[in-house]
Amino acid sequence: MSFADLGLSPKVLSAVQAAGYENATPIQAQAIPYAMMGRDVLGIAQTGTGKTASFVLPMLTKLEQGRARARMPRSLILEPTRELAAQVADEIEVLGKQHKLTVALLIGGVSYDEQDKKLDRGADIVIATPGRLLDHFQRGKLLLNGIQVLVVDEADRMLDMGFIPDIEKICKRLPFTRQTLFFSATMPAEIQRLVNNFLHQPARVEV
Ligand code: AMP
Repeated sequence: MSFADLGLSPKVLSAVQAAGYENATPIQAQAIPYAMMGRDVLGIAQTGTGKTASFVLPMLTKLEQGRARARMPRSLILEPTRELAAQVADEIEVLGKQHKLTVALLIGGVSYDEQDKKLDRGADIVIATPGRLLDHFQRGKLLLNGIQVLVVDEADRMLDMGFIPDIEKICKRLPFTRQTLFFSATMPAEIQRLVNNFLHQPARVEV
């Protein structure tokens, strides 16, 4: 399916073209129109299906309006591992090149100093593992009440790694009116419960 029919902004469409993506993958074709309508989305998809772009592209479109303020990021992407968080940052660098948005990667194993500076300067997008995100929050280095879009990626891996209590803590600090885009390869009962508690009438898409 053509990207042109999914409701994305002209700037995002040009970024997609520059990245060399010709057609939307099935998860992109299904999830992006709902995300662009402002709906919460529950996406059941594995890595390799193009699910990253299915949340990055609507997020970029949404963030074209407005700017981040110091310590008040506008969107948050939670990933289970440092490696996955870094991969998402790479994809945003490619797809968001023309947007000139500020991205802060908050992962363990890296000094707080650099991450604090990024947050102080104002980050439009925070990509984080749950533990490190909570560390920064509890140290008073970031506020979560400016978050317009939350992405929870690889939720079933989050469950395997024991991160569900952290995710619940984070979700409770976010504005009620945010948009949530939630991805998991499988839907065990604990994940369904999380979806029931923290998503608002999500559109369910599955590939
Ligand atoms: P993901 O499932 O998000 O990890 O994406 C898998 C790989 O597919 C990544 O390297 C993306 O850059 C690439 N990709 C994502 N969407 C498309 C697309 N529509 N056309 C071609 N490649 C894509």
